[in-house]
Amino acid sequence: MVTLLPMDKFIFSFGRMKRVGMDLSIYYGHEFECACGFNHELDDNTELLCQGFWKVMAVCPDRQDHITAIKIRMFLMVKFLGFKSINGARICAEDDLQMVKIMLHYLR
Ligand SMILES: [Zn+2]
Repeated sequence: MVTLLPMDKFIFSFGRMKRVGMDLSIYYGHEFECACGFNHELDDNTELLCQGFWKVMAVCPDRQDHITAIKIRMFLMVKFLGFKSINGARICAEDDLQMVKIMLHYLR
């Protein structure tokens, strides 16, 4: 179960955000636990909003109002151990949506 946070806390807890520059295609096919309560496979249809240090922010492929922060678990930065969801948020208010859009605007 992914802990859902209010959008501002979720963004704050993610920390420094960068445009997604990592090639995640090598991790396609691995599942992550989504804020919506289901598991999804990461693939090229997974919309990623931004990245941090070995983590990404992904939009739920089924319910676009759910966002999950996913840790890319690595051993010594070489061996992939799987995804671990840190927390998530649900866009429920117009303000939240605005905040996400502003955030994306600065990253792109
Ligand atoms: Zn989902």
